[in-house]
Amino acid sequence: MKTDFIIVGQGLAGTLLSYELLKKGKTVAVIDSPDYQKASEVAAGLINPVVFRRLTKSWLIDDLFPQLEQTFDELEALLDCQIYFPMKIRKVLGLGESEFWKKKVWENELSDYLNPVPDGESYPELKLAHGSGWVEKAGRVDLEALLSGYRNYLKEKGCLHVFNFDYDRMILHPDRIVYGELEAEKIIFCEGHRASQNPYFQNIHFKHTKGEVFNLETQTYQADFILNKAFFLMPVGVKEFRMGATYDWNILNESPTEEARNEMSGKLEQVFEDEYQITRHKAGIRPTTHDRRPVIGLHADYPQIGIFNGLGSKGCMLGPYFACQFADNLIDKSSLIHSEVRLARYL
Ligand SMILES: Cc1cc2nc3c(=O)[nH]c(=O)nc-3n(C[C@H](O)[C@H](O)[C@H](O)COP(=O)(O)OP(=O)(O)OC[C@H]3O[C@@H](n4cnc5c(N)ncnc54)[C@H](O)[C@@H]3O)c2cc1C
Repeated sequence: MKTDFIIVGQGLAGTLLSYELLKKGKTVAVIDSPDYQKASEVAAGLINPVVFRRLTKSWLIDDLFPQLEQTFDELEALLDCQIYFPMKIRKVLGLGESEFWKKKVWENELSDYLNPVPDGESYPELKLAHGSGWVEKAGRVDLEALLSGYRNYLKEKGCLHVFNFDYDRMILHPDRIVYGELEAEKIIFCEGHRASQNPYFQNIHFKHTKGEVFNLETQTYQADFILNKAFFLMPVGVKEFRMGATYDWNILNESPTEEARNEMSGKLEQVFEDEYQITRHKAGIRPTTHDRRPVIGLHADYPQIGIFNGLGSKGCMLGPYFACQFADNLIDKSSLIHSEVRLARYL
């Protein structure tokens, strides 16, 4: 079976890259493991354009936002389901933070994203002693809907191959690669954190992060905004919320822990007064590089092999923009990849 590209992995990275290639008229075969967990299925799907600690714009956000809106809009039409839920973020402010908020909105050119006037209103079930600030342009991506909808789409097109890819079975020719019955001009690895084991990319300096997220049901609290205060609490249904997330750079496994549960409950209870019950608890590994930038490009010695990885904790914001950029570059070499994400930085 001849195809233009083999994509290994159907997490967020493999989904978005294969979508962009198909859209641009190329053929793809997507290989996905039946066994491995996807970070994309654990992720909360938060879109937050602001770095709260310094109150600055998130990296490249003015370019990322229009692209993510366009891509998720197209995918909603293709898959006939809602994927992107625009929603405001209510940031709980601490003592003196109200002045900081007002100052930084102008200083850091945040007026497209933040309401410059902090809100002094109270809200049932929330402790808002020092008010809150509103992020007006934010939201949630329903990654489960996206991944399962797109998987069905690939199946229907006959492009999905469910098995564990084995590097030893790949045969490299100067102008193509062969794997079993599949033959392609290029193979692009979108393996998430498992890229650390890929023998062709051992020079990439990965620094993956474990994270844990929870679903919970409240007794009375309802909201149409995402609450933030060193955690996020995002509505996913009536009185149903997703909460996260923890960061652990040392113990990299996919097992939920009691420590994370206690950490998150402790943080929540500082601002939240309602009764709640945790209904789901998941852990996963964010594929992250040492400089927290994606890693994208073709291998220097084997240009038939490429990688699209390192989406870290912001896959929903970074993925659409860089999938589009990489697909353009794969089709036309003169279309450049952003210098900070190029694979070449590891040479
Ligand atoms: C707890 C947590 C919370 C998060 N919250 C957010 C959030 O709110 N917002 C946000 O934007 N991002 C969030 N993220 C980050 C987001 O999940 C990642 O950026 C993104 O999902 C990475 O996608 P990926 O496709 O690179 O990796 P993955 O989703 O892990 O996909 C990798 C795929 O490759 C496949 N694969 C690997 N090796 C092989 C092989 N040998 N053969 C076949 N298939 C293979 C796997 O089966 C899998 O399907 C969170 C992550 C975690 C863990």
